[in-house]
Amino acid sequence: MPDLPHFIGGEFVAAGPTFANHDPLTGLRTGGVHEADAGTVDRAVEAARRAAPGWARTPAAERAGLLRRVADELERRFDDLVAAEVGDTGKPVSQARELDVPRGAANFRTFAELAANQPGQVFETVTAAGERALNYTLRKPLGVVAIIVPWNLPFLLATWKIAPALACGNTVIVKPSEETPSSVTLLAEIMRDVGLPDGVFNVVHGFGPGSAGQYLTEHPGVDAITFTGESRTGTAIMRSAARRVKPVSFELGGKNAGLVFADADLDQAVEGAVRSVFTNGGQVCLCTERLYVERPVFEEFAARLAERAAALPYARAGETDRKGVTMMPMISAGHRDKVLSYYELARSEGATTLAGGGVPEFGDERDGGYFVEPTVFTGLPPAARLNREEVFGPVCHIAPFDTEEEAVRLANDSEYGLAATVWTSNLDRAHRVGASLEAGIVWVNCWFLRDLRTPFGGVKLSGIGREGGEHSLAFYSEPTTVCVKLGDS
Ligand code: NAD
Repeated sequence: MPDLPHFIGGEFVAAGPTFANHDPLTGLRTGGVHEADAGTVDRAVEAARRAAPGWARTPAAERAGLLRRVADELERRFDDLVAAEVGDTGKPVSQARELDVPRGAANFRTFAELAANQPGQVFETVTAAGERALNYTLRKPLGVVAIIVPWNLPFLLATWKIAPALACGNTVIVKPSEETPSSVTLLAEIMRDVGLPDGVFNVVHGFGPGSAGQYLTEHPGVDAITFTGESRTGTAIMRSAARRVKPVSFELGGKNAGLVFADADLDQAVEGAVRSVFTNGGQVCLCTERLYVERPVFEEFAARLAERAAALPYARAGETDRKGVTMMPMISAGHRDKVLSYYELARSEGATTLAGGGVPEFGDERDGGYFVEPTVFTGLPPAARLNREEVFGPVCHIAPFDTEEEAVRLANDSEYGLAATVWTSNLDRAHRVGASLEAGIVWVNCWFLRDLRTPFGGVKLSGIGREGGEHSLAFYSEPTTVCVKLGDS
């Protein structure tokens, strides 16, 4: 495999030194990736700026038509995209087939549709003095948008931003995570093949600080930044965006709570908790890391969750038919070590380990991979670091509660506010608790289910702004009001 290049102005560009890409299932090197320096980022910004006026003038319906062709092509090259995503992340093939790649195509179809059919607003004004005017609003693209995304759901999250940004008439420069560069590079090939004009879609590879990420966010030729990643990184990006008051949209970290009431369907709640804690190796911003269970069912729930965690199967290369939650590796050796350090910290803080807590042994090539055991802890106070900091691994802490008020207070006792889950059969309680939780999304008796037109985002340290449906279109476009005085005759 040649080293992965950047994609600038419609061409693949193999510029800059290379860094290694690894297969998390085995730890083996799978290839190299070029790292963009400041000059390469300059080239990408220039290409995007050159293409911006033409793409902005292209009728929305024509842009939408091209994006629909991108979706068609994604479906045609489905297996290649699945292979790229699985190779970079070690995720089960079935997950990439059922979630990551189909969501990419759905993102393009959804925003092609919405942007082409955006309703306008018209107001007729009559002042006290009898002056009349017609007011209408134009929506214009922002210009060049930098899209910076993480490694956990690389294709899904990148296309979630690329599709609405392009649909609204912006040109984009995407910086995928250094850990997961492949699927977006493949997308560049697809963009070229469907005939997207040169410079409308660009990709630069590299790291964050002192590399492509920082050069991009600090670049004066970038008009807006949309970022998904850690809250700490969001703070750094916000600082550089502040100099030019660039619009930012941030989807950041979470420390999500799940509340299980004694009246819940316990089978459904246990399975829901297994999914929400361990899917994608716990490496989803929406994963539950704190579980609070009403005392009468606490012991039974904790025992059943621990039993399910201990029995979860581990992913293996080439396996294509595994259904249900499968433990995938952590993305890198560094992230595995971070997760293990939290396991150690929890024990040193006095936690009781109900399941896992270590590293699995396979006796095959996966022993070189980045696996950790799915883990359940209990016995820590709310102030413990394990209950406050995002681990982003297959781990949760489980604690009992006695009243609904206490459950809501515990769930809201966090600097984060991305998602929460509620398991109950009481409809009144579902609505009451749903309205009381400080989170961008509250799931009742489900998890990771959502219409792409609904607003998605977080409160507190979990982000700024919302994406999804018209909320994405609002971020990726700028309104101009035109007020035309009407004559008397
Ligand atoms: P990260 O913040 O380390 O990196 C994300 C991206 O930012 C990468 O492409 C990285 O190279 C780049 N980057 C890092 N530092 C930068 C800087 N100073 N300037 C510019 N770019 C920089 O995050 P990660 O470890 O890749 O992803 C995991 C995090 O993402 C978790 O905190 C998770 O909760 C969060 N996340 C949030 C959502 C959401 O929708 N809220 C979704 C997925 C992941």
